[in-house]
Amino acid sequence: MNTVGTFEEARDLSTGSVGLVPTMGFLHEGHLSLIEAAREHSDTVIVSLFVNPLQFNESSDLAAYPRSIERDTALAGSAGAHVLFNPDIDTMYPNSVRTSVSVAGVSDGMEGEHRPGHFAGVALVVAKLFGGLQPTTAYFGRKDAQQLAVISTLTSDLSLPVDVLGLPIVREMDGLALSSRNVRIPTDERAQALGLSRALFAAADRFEEGERSSAVLVGAVNDNLDPSLVAGLDYVEVADGAGADRVAEVNATSFIALAATVGGVRLIDNVFLDPKTGRADRGVRLRKPSILYGDG
Ligand code: AMP
Repeated sequence: MNTVGTFEEARDLSTGSVGLVPTMGFLHEGHLSLIEAAREHSDTVIVSLFVNPLQFNESSDLAAYPRSIERDTALAGSAGAHVLFNPDIDTMYPNSVRTSVSVAGVSDGMEGEHRPGHFAGVALVVAKLFGGLQPTTAYFGRKDAQQLAVISTLTSDLSLPVDVLGLPIVREMDGLALSSRNVRIPTDERAQALGLSRALFAAADRFEEGERSSAVLVGAVNDNLDPSLVAGLDYVEVADGAGADRVAEVNATSFIALAATVGGVRLIDNVFLDPKTGRADRGVRLRKPSILYGDG
């Protein structure tokens, strides 16, 4: 695997179909599942690693974001990436930011409402990665369900010739959705963090029993949420998978999502709901402790 810092170098190393996995680093098995999928379907796999300051609405969150280029280089290489694209800030933003990419509607609710400016930062960096790296296919996690909707919409609206794919959430053994931020959850708050996925799974059970009303599904999450989590809860919502707008009933592929701060760490999670099959996608679980905790 080659590590490069410019778009030109990454393009020069690309042959055939190019699979891109955009990340902010501190890789875990969720990222690795995307790299492995890219490897299966693409001739060249590029993993980008850039902690994009424009998508952080809290400077303390940006400062605390975990980083380790040595660790990420080893993990991306062993997962089969061919190129690690690790640009510095001047490569990504050589000028003051003049061009903006905003995706109306899709970006407005949930994360957009609670993290002002977040999706403008995401949309701009993804547009740059697509333009500069020219991937055939780009792989994203459904963990960031609204982000996936924003990126699919911008790709289609700008006629970018990139296939955008969303892959299932990878969870820790106990059900907590993997996130690089999990390493910052204080040990004594871990049990509380686990309550988020547990509450979502209760709603998933109701959905699989035939419930289609968003209000009832949201109620199932709230009823199963530990009272200690309520103060830190930003939202619980059911949204349409493609447009990320709030729906009253699940008639098309949708997701039930929440965001909450636990032990000073903001976490998001969701479950996709497919009314055609009647199944809820709870993602996949690791069978051993995550590499986040030192085995990598
Ligand atoms: P991040 O480094 O957190 O910006 O994430 C980079 C990519 O990995 C995004 O497409 C995320 O949705 C995806 N991702 C993050 N966590 C998970 C997870 N637990 N399961 C699957 N994909 C994930």
